[in-house]
Amino acid sequence: MSAMPASLRDEFPLLAAEPDLHYLDSAATSQIHRSAMDAVLHHETTSRANVSRGTYRLAEAADLAYERARQTAARFLNAGSPDEIIFTSGATAALNLVAHAFGNTLQAGDRVLISVAEHHSNFVPWQMLRERTGIELAMIPVTASGQLDLALLPELMDSKCRLVAVTHLSNVTGAWTDVATLVEAARKVGAKVLLDGAQAVQHGPQDVRALGVDFYAFSGHKCFAPGGVGVLWGRGEVLAAMPPFLAGGGMIASVSLEATTWAEPPQRFEAGTPPIAQAVGLAAALEWMMGLDWRQVHARESRLCELLIEGLQRIPGLRLLGPEMSAQRAPIVSFDIPGLHPHDICQVLDTHRLALRGGHHCAQPLLAALGVEVCTRASIALYNDEADIHALLDGLTFALRELA
Ligand code: PLP
Repeated sequence: MSAMPASLRDEFPLLAAEPDLHYLDSAATSQIHRSAMDAVLHHETTSRANVSRGTYRLAEAADLAYERARQTAARFLNAGSPDEIIFTSGATAALNLVAHAFGNTLQAGDRVLISVAEHHSNFVPWQMLRERTGIELAMIPVTASGQLDLALLPELMDSKCRLVAVTHLSNVTGAWTDVATLVEAARKVGAKVLLDGAQAVQHGPQDVRALGVDFYAFSGHKCFAPGGVGVLWGRGEVLAAMPPFLAGGGMIASVSLEATTWAEPPQRFEAGTPPIAQAVGLAAALEWMMGLDWRQVHARESRLCELLIEGLQRIPGLRLLGPEMSAQRAPIVSFDIPGLHPHDICQVLDTHRLALRGGHHCAQPLLAALGVEVCTRASIALYNDEADIHALLDGLTFALRELA
């Protein structure tokens, strides 16, 4: 495991090119690491061909690079086998894949349990499944600070419950989900567990076997990799029992005029040409992440998060959303300043070279539960430093004066 360099900023080409930019929107999209860009360029200039088709050397090089990327993703998640890794276009596509393919194994009356804290991409696919099949969709409520309130679990988790699909880390409140309690309750009734890891992966490699879940979804663009690629991990026997979602080339065993039979996973779930170069770039970013000292990264992220929260708490009228500073918190900090629209705040901050997101963050049910329609969010990643936090606090003081 390599030591953490003092500043990682220079390893990110966009940040290196824009030294005065304070990028605090990594929960929306992280900046791409140089190794991922280099890997894409190298692949496109040495091994660009389609995969699982050609027998010439270039095609074999593409096959090798793509399957190596699968192996890297499997190591990053500590999956049982690379065959459990399905490349998708992102977390949204991965979640829709489960809602369709696993969803097609459900019947009217079966229950899917999600939570009020979900991003719309882990909310709407289940509502659509409910419309299609008549499943029951139940919600885990949230506490006043937006954390999943597991007090009602015993009522929601009976033998009708077939799947619990929740976020691993909230994109609004920065709250980590208590996965162990959920998994224990799900196992008792034979329900499967899906984690939406879109936010979590930016804060380190994950161990799906230690988590004890059945599905894990994430996007490359949120973990220092290119856009247009994501991963769905599924436990081998669970994937094997699922019908395909999308149909086309690459996902069949045989096609005749009468019938089609499916390939085994993961190919069964990768219809059409996959995001090959993007997967190679993703693997490079994951490899780089696996070489970091995550204890140091977390200590640094927590310190910056604490500094930010302390500063925000000094702003009169500002309401912080999400849990207090504690071990169960990631550096995603949302806040509301009554009377000021987040879009206005973000525009003024932009004039100070601060990039933050304001809006509903694709989590309207959660925001409604927290009593706001929109909010401003600062999300801290491993390349941020104290200068970014001080710039934000100064920028907010300026914005408050400007907009008052
Ligand atoms: N889930 C969560 C918690 C997210 O924060 C996001 C994106 O912000 C998604 C899912 C969807 O990710 P993508 O847009 O990369 O598919």
